[in-house]
Amino acid sequence: MTNQPSLACPLCSCTTFSQEESRQDSAWGFTSHRMTLLICDNCRYVLHFYDRNSVFDFD
Ligand SMILES: [Zn+2]
Repeated sequence: MTNQPSLACPLCSCTTFSQEESRQDSAWGFTSHRMTLLICDNCRYVLHFYDRNSVFDFD
């Protein structure tokens, strides 16, 4: 494990993503977590992260 893993789209290997955050209601079974979505700029594949700080600092 590395602290700053490189991130690439599993489909097209693109390394640029659009970031969106969303709060999930009870449909996902929990209410307190913000979910971060990273959307591949190339193919629109969506990566889901439940705690972005545990993945990497995108800012
Ligand atoms: Zn992609």
